[in-house]
Amino acid sequence: MHIRSKLPDVGTTIFTVMSALATEHHAINLGQGFPDYQMDEELIALVNAAMKKGFNQYVPMQGYIGLREAIAAKIQFLYKTDVNAQTQITITPGGTYAIYTALTTVLQPGDEVIIFEPAYDSYIPNVEINGAIPVLIGLRAPDYSIDWNEVRKKINPRTKMIMLNSPNNPTGAVLREHDIEQLREMVDGTNIFILSDEVYEHLIFDNIPHLSILRYPDLLQRSFVCFSFGKVYHCTGWKLGYCVSSAEAMNEFRKVHQFNCFSCNSPAQVALAEFLAREESYLSLASFMQDKRDYFHQLMLQTKFTSLPSYGSYFQLYQYNNISNENDKEFAIRLTKEYGVATIPVSAFYKSGMDSKTIRFCFAKKKETLQSAVERLMKIR
Ligand code: PMP
Ligand code: GLN
Repeated sequence: MHIRSKLPDVGTTIFTVMSALATEHHAINLGQGFPDYQMDEELIALVNAAMKKGFNQYVPMQGYIGLREAIAAKIQFLYKTDVNAQTQITITPGGTYAIYTALTTVLQPGDEVIIFEPAYDSYIPNVEINGAIPVLIGLRAPDYSIDWNEVRKKINPRTKMIMLNSPNNPTGAVLREHDIEQLREMVDGTNIFILSDEVYEHLIFDNIPHLSILRYPDLLQRSFVCFSFGKVYHCTGWKLGYCVSSAEAMNEFRKVHQFNCFSCNSPAQVALAEFLAREESYLSLASFMQDKRDYFHQLMLQTKFTSLPSYGSYFQLYQYNNISNENDKEFAIRLTKEYGVATIPVSAFYKSGMDSKTIRFCFAKKKETLQSAVERLMKIR
């Protein structure tokens, strides 16, 4: 039987490739983004308790109402915006799914979607599988900021959506006030949607405020804002997240969602509802991760790698032009095989495969893991 591929240009994701290579070569895995330390014991106990209490059957398609109410309360506390838990929030099996569902909800064949590169690897295939066209704009070196003049030039009547990701994977860049102002100016009076991928919402450093689209009710009207519990609560394997939008857009989002997964893991939602009610559960995350960033950065000063700043997420980019002329994929593979440290080559975040001799490290690891990895990297001369 012959399948006409819907994604003919797509292979296995770089995260899967590098993690498999790390396992094969017993390397320390600073590639794929996931923690190697235990998640909060209290949250584990809450899931256990929820299962024992009998929360083992389907929750409503929109998500467990207790969790949606806890999210609405958190949004009010952090961003001072009223979001209706009944009509504006849907719990999803992870952030990736929320993004895919939002795109599938609005995109028609031939629509254009503005995507900034380097871009998280699911964005372009998610747009293309819907018959829409990714319009790619490179972030500006060296700080990976958005060139809004470039955005203005690319906007036309076919532009259906602009995709944002702050804090950014892989660059660690974050949106600033002037970005929001430019964005507002750009979309004002148009029918352009915004997809804001905020899965690293709480992982932002140096007291920089997270400029969530949820702060701006006028922008939220045209937005799908996507989150991941896995990323912020150190449980990526749980695959649980949520999407927030206007009630009207959410009504359409749910039409797609209800025939794809219908509803998500019940005990985890019940547990998170209780966990989220405690503000420290998320207010402590930024300093927890900043401590890891600083520790890793300090250690890396002993190597020949050149750091680029990370203001958020749990990633930091490093350039290796002092070390090698190899392309970034070859270099990352050799680093895994010969030195036992796996990373992600940043060319994987460009459709063109553009190589800027930069690799991404994940620092969401135990300090001893980071230390062992850097000891190995110091051997590179
Ligand atoms: N967006 C970005 C930028 C990410 O790094 C991730 C993490 N994989 C996701 C979305 C998806 O998160 P999840 O694992 O909850 O699907
Ligand atoms: N978001 C994670 C990363 O960037 C990986 C998730 C995945 O493997 N798809 O490393």
